[in-house]
Amino acid sequence: MIIQLKKGISKPMLENIHFVLNEFKIKNNYVKTQVAEYLVCFSKNEFDIRKIGFIEGVEDVHSVTDDYKLVSKKWKLNNSAINLGNGIVYDAFNPIVIAGPCSVESEKQMELIVQHLVKSNIKIARGGVFKPRSSPYTFRGLGIDGLKMMYELCKAHDIKIVTEVMQVSQIEEMLPYVDVFQVGARNSQNFNLLDALGSIDKAVLLKRGISGTIDELLQSAEYVFSKGNEKVILCERGIRTFETAYRNTFDINAIQVLKEKSHLPVIADPSHGVGIRDHVSKLALASIVAGADGVIYEVHPSPEEALSDGQQTLNFEESNYLIKQIHSLQSFLKSN
Ligand code: PEP
Ligand code: MN
Repeated sequence: MIIQLKKGISKPMLENIHFVLNEFKIKNNYVKTQVAEYLVCFSKNEFDIRKIGFIEGVEDVHSVTDDYKLVSKKWKLNNSAINLGNGIVYDAFNPIVIAGPCSVESEKQMELIVQHLVKSNIKIARGGVFKPRSSPYTFRGLGIDGLKMMYELCKAHDIKIVTEVMQVSQIEEMLPYVDVFQVGARNSQNFNLLDALGSIDKAVLLKRGISGTIDELLQSAEYVFSKGNEKVILCERGIRTFETAYRNTFDINAIQVLKEKSHLPVIADPSHGVGIRDHVSKLALASIVAGADGVIYEVHPSPEEALSDGQQTLNFEESNYLIKQIHSLQSFLKSN
């Protein structure tokens, strides 16, 4: 059960609600986000929520049987929109495109990529500076200096930045330069990191774990939300299965199922989802048809020379063509 509290609820009113909940032996967690205050409640027995609805200070009561509560669609039927500023609103009616390199490598590379984004009217750039790599001997990112350089280039064109944060201690120094903190697949269940991102007011792009279930992804989103940050974007990026013909099994089912289970925006990452350049564009389009609120993909001036994930990275020509196809698809979907 979720009890949504009235705006500006007084302390005595809240104490009274707690008193009633205790009477009914209902455990509850107080949550305050940018948007509202809630009590997330758990009871061993069936409980008639009408007993709570009339109490002073209660705005609304919802029965939510899922293990995750605040991210569930069972209490919030409308899709959540996330405003990244300057009119970029993330919701089902404005599917969004995020593109950029796997890793920020150099100023020259980023200049070319930002030019490409501007020409294609892409308003959000991706680019890793703290890179989780399977081998410690490979390129692990330019760190905070790379992020600052990316920020300067993007700021000049009002392009927002998505970049991965790998540990709690990085958040503070990254904060001024980041619009969306990406939690990568390897950190999808790093609960300390999720807690910490729950207490800041920046959007979080939460990727599905390498072997993560949909339920685990939603529980991870619940960590961020219940710590106070409602700005969570879910991301399907493929999972590990027995199949070895491609990097990951891009789980397109997950897009529809996540949209059904949660009110949060859902985006798709076909680059990591399939891991093979030739298939990325088609899977990006398929994701939009499957109901994704946006796509994130990797692009580089010369993918063959990329320091990470070149094999799944589009060149500018491929990216241009994909953008054209996405636009045609969007107008087709809107008019049908
Ligand atoms: C990335 O976005 O470059 C990345 C490392 O993604 P993932 O965490 O999905 O592997
Ligand atoms: Mn990558």
